[in-house]
Amino acid sequence: MAGVLGGLPDSVLQFTYLVASVLFIQGLRDMTHPRTATRGNATSAAGMFLAVVVTVLWFEILSPVVLAAGLLVGGTVGVWLAVTVETTEMPQLVGLFNGFGGGASALVAGAELIDVLGSSTQLSIGLTTTAAIAGIIGSVTFWGSLVAAGKLHGVVGDSPVSPNAGHALKALFLLLSVLAGLLLIVRPDIFGQVPVTSWIPSYWVLVAAASVLGVFLVVPIGGADMPVVIALLNSYSGLAAATTGFVLNNTVLIIAGTLVGASGLILTVIMCESMNRSLRNVLFGGLGGETESEEMDDIYEGQITETSPEEVVMLMETAQRVVIVPGYGMAVAQAQHAVAELVELLDEDGVDVEFGIHPVAGRMPGHMNALLAEADVPYEKMRELEEVNPTFSQTDLVIVTGANDVVNPKANTDDSSPIAGMPVLNVSEARSVVVNKRSLSPGFSGIPNPLFAKDNTSMLFGDAKESMQALVNQYKEATS
Ligand code: NDP
Repeated sequence: MAGVLGGLPDSVLQFTYLVASVLFIQGLRDMTHPRTATRGNATSAAGMFLAVVVTVLWFEILSPVVLAAGLLVGGTVGVWLAVTVETTEMPQLVGLFNGFGGGASALVAGAELIDVLGSSTQLSIGLTTTAAIAGIIGSVTFWGSLVAAGKLHGVVGDSPVSPNAGHALKALFLLLSVLAGLLLIVRPDIFGQVPVTSWIPSYWVLVAAASVLGVFLVVPIGGADMPVVIALLNSYSGLAAATTGFVLNNTVLIIAGTLVGASGLILTVIMCESMNRSLRNVLFGGLGGETESEEMDDIYEGQITETSPEEVVMLMETAQRVVIVPGYGMAVAQAQHAVAELVELLDEDGVDVEFGIHPVAGRMPGHMNALLAEADVPYEKMRELEEVNPTFSQTDLVIVTGANDVVNPKANTDDSSPIAGMPVLNVSEARSVVVNKRSLSPGFSGIPNPLFAKDNTSMLFGDAKESMQALVNQYKEATS
């Protein structure tokens, strides 16, 4: 059905879609640097707004009342989430968004099949093929993302199913969904006079089988690997959207979906490379688990030096160069503002102070950069791993706050370690290292960290926010 703009030449619609696509691409480009990332977000959102508005006005898909109700409900939920969700919960929020994208693609493809049947007795092979693909990828994405978000949020546990039984179940449901898809694609007229509508249920069988497949694919993967899984599902949601774009013959959906699919895949590869793990290992291997307490005792017993804010400030007062290494604990404690204040004080006193940021510090790429930017830390002070590593030998003091795996020398020294080969920040090359965390507990990978037992390392035990604030207060007192 034609909408308000439906009487205009088709070229106007295509041109508007082109403008929206250019805005998506420019937005993605801007998102590659923290300084322009906010603008990039706004540019992409403007592109999406344009695409949605023009589509709605062109085709009159829904009545204005239903549209307004949808906008109100969706807008309210969106604003509520944006305001209330903590940055540490961002990965699961992204997971939910991916899931809804995939679910929407599967539903739209199904709705299009039903809609086409309303005006024709034939389903073209192009339509059924793309709908089947969108249905399978979209359903896997929806259910897989729900499980991934649930695991990250701690409401879904790990699988009780053995890995081999799990692989068999995955193969079974993949086969079922592909068979249902083939049934849909192989048109009824090939077999005789079966009414075309009677084949539509095979689409919903496909959706059901792919939904179970999505659950079985993600349930066995350890909760700690969920950020990588979410990046991969992000890519799937893009593929599902692009395929639905072919179902609807909608250019902007094909372009936007392809961009999401490609960027999600690139992000997945970057995350795997930064952890020196293959995607296969993430999806079918496993990382983390129980740490043997004997192993911890062997490394730490009698080797740990505890320090206090007063002693750390004494080190700071004599330092000419200080590097701060933040990690997941800084995000959990929301210590970024106290850290930023400390850096400002050192900076004012002429100390060369920078951040050493590991690409997978925290629980999502760019996690530390986003938090520090929120606390108004200048981008020039954030150094990447390759830039900062050569400078540690000329650094007087490294303060590690809430980081563990990203400074674990075992990555370089122990081939059997789960983080073997992962590039790490070689902080122990500095004159003194202070590690701030609450205990000697392991990080994400579940292994002990020999850095804590080194001669030039001392442990400042405590919550990152409280400890950093204590350093700020102590430094002010000592230098006033
Ligand atoms: P880790 O998970 O290795 O360690 C974080 C440390 O923070 C813990 O040892 C914990 O110790 C401490 N901590 C927790 N809460 C607090 C608090 N309130 N105050 C102070 N300390 C606290 O984090 P890293 O950032 O070093 O490494 C990230 C890990 O996550 C890597 O192994 C990486 O591979 C993985 N990962 C990262 C992804 C990404 O995209 N960034 C994606 C997937 C995985 P304690 O309990 O003793 O306080």
